Amino acid sequence: MFYFRIYMGILFFLFGITVGSFLNVLIYRIPKKEDFVKTRSHCMSCGYQLEWYDLVPLFSWLTLRGKCRKCRSKISAQYPLVEALNGILWLVTYLLFDQSITTLLYCALISSLIALSVIDFRTYEIPVGFNVFILVLGTIRLVYEFILDHNSWPEYVIGLVSVSVPLLLIYYATKGRGIGGGDVKLMGAAGLLLGWKLVILAFFLGCLLGSVIHVARMKISGESHVLAMGPYLSAGLIIAIYAGEQIISAYLGYLNSLTASYIGF
Ligand SMILES: [Zn+2]
Repeated sequence: MFYFRIYMGILFFLFGITVGSFLNVLIYRIPKKEDFVKTRSHCMSCGYQLEWYDLVPLFSWLTLRGKCRKCRSKISAQYPLVEALNGILWLVTYLLFDQSITTLLYCALISSLIALSVIDFRTYEIPVGFNVFILVLGTIRLVYEFILDHNSWPEYVIGLVSVSVPLLLIYYATKGRGIGGGDVKLMGAAGLLLGWKLVILAFFLGCLLGSVIHVARMKISGESHVLAMGPYLSAGLIIAIYAGEQIISAYLGYLNSLTASYIGF
């Protein structure tokens, strides 16, 4: 059983970095509206068409030391970073949730979050396709809970609206300046997949990370005041997936101890 887990863990990592290299393709081509299935991968400087051995996730970039095989111009470190991140998060997800539908749904969600975060960071826009995809994942979760007659299915329906509806009100009240439409859809779709408790936690974590990190970046590098929320909300969602239950029960325990000391036990 132990060796089987190691074997499966390695498989999840290898499959994760492979999907990671597909995410790189999405990250570059979706904002440019290029066909991301038919166009062959090529060097951005000299146009050299990459062969299969140039496309091995992580290893190609490492063996070429980040340079094009033909013209030696630099290849962005973003390629191996996205691949490694996706591989590591798939491995962690497998270790936490074992072989289950939850693992598959969360792996697919996490990959979408990585890609949409990089795109949002660069373009201030979350392509709607990612939110539709996450909504499909959430629907699979809902149907699965419903069929298995877990009484928990309303948790996911409430998750769909618990963060997204208040955000939608802010969106209309501020005419889209307070929050982006893509962020509203993301928190709705992710809420359907995670349930209301985790998505509310994810939203608070995302706002906390966003305000702390963005203020620091504005101070240090004179970053603009425009804030892409996607990466922070995504980080909040991933933390909620991995540690949400523990964070919530620790918080409730803390509240309990406060009330207990107040009442005088
Ligand atoms: Zn080149």
